[in-house]
Amino acid sequence: MKRVLITGAAGFLGSHLCDRMIQEGYHVMGMDNLLTGSLDNIEHLFKLRQFEYYHHDVSKFVHVPGKLDYILHFASPASPIDYLQMPIQTLKVGALGTHNLLGLAKDKGARILVASTSEVYGDPLVHPQKEDYWGNVNPVGPRGVYDEAKRFLEAITMAYHNFHKVDTRIVRIFNTYGPRMRLNDGRALPAFFSQAIRGEGLTVFGDGSQTRSFCYVDDLVEGIYRLLLSDYALPVNIGNPQEITILDFAEEIIGLVGNPRARIVYRELPEDDPKVRQPDITLARELLGWEPKVPRREGLMRTYEYFKKYVGNLSQEKA
Ligand code: UDP
Repeated sequence: MKRVLITGAAGFLGSHLCDRMIQEGYHVMGMDNLLTGSLDNIEHLFKLRQFEYYHHDVSKFVHVPGKLDYILHFASPASPIDYLQMPIQTLKVGALGTHNLLGLAKDKGARILVASTSEVYGDPLVHPQKEDYWGNVNPVGPRGVYDEAKRFLEAITMAYHNFHKVDTRIVRIFNTYGPRMRLNDGRALPAFFSQAIRGEGLTVFGDGSQTRSFCYVDDLVEGIYRLLLSDYALPVNIGNPQEITILDFAEEIIGLVGNPRARIVYRELPEDDPKVRQPDITLARELLGWEPKVPRREGLMRTYEYFKKYVGNLSQEKA
């Protein structure tokens, strides 16, 4: 049985990757320090013999017993309010954590896939973003701690690949959504859903004309799985090219939830908020035969089912 270590296992993407790898017949070692992740996301896996959990901060030396075939490095605070509140941990997990895991991959002879981000493109001057665009990042702005940590992650991963011949993969992930996103992580989609369900104002930042392109989590996981099994070491964009303004997105969610008290309220635009973002996925199409399959409406419906339960429970707790 092939053995895979997944860091950030209790997070949104990490937990979906645990599910997928177990489904594919792997033995999964999930690692997390629960800084932003939650055991609720992997609770259902603890009863399985193919699953083990390690509570550990990967910024410190990482070791797991036995043979290791693959590492998926997905540990990191990933939403803007998280990395504003945890700037040092964000830098450390992207830099020191990645270094530790590359060292582990080298030691074990494992293949490692690291999670990079569309944030390496910063506030992009090229649209849509292709892998050969170098980006427009402010290193000392509020997002710098995440963006630069991930840029370092890419650099050190390529260094281990070129210098130590470690078998590496780099995925550049664009905005992704789905069940298990944290309701209070401050991102647009969970914020809009909880506000719409509660009948509050949906907080659109700026005039809402900035765009994002949202990928449903199952599509993303499929792309990552294919990239892991490919033989391509340079970065690959995985995301859904369907682009929408944040204002239209908020209105779409109001329409879907159908709470007559929900409405749009405008709030100040955060510093360095990227104005546009859309992946060019030509490379993923050619290399992996991959493209997203779940239309936004379908993905939003599935996510709504999840949030409905969650928001319901939270209001019950408060009552
Ligand atoms: N945004 C918003 N209202 C919110 C949260 C976010 O209008 O309550 C905007 C944010 O300014 C950005 C976009 O929605 O332009 C996506 O933000 P998110 O934090 O989801 O992810 P990002 O792509 O910025 O990392």
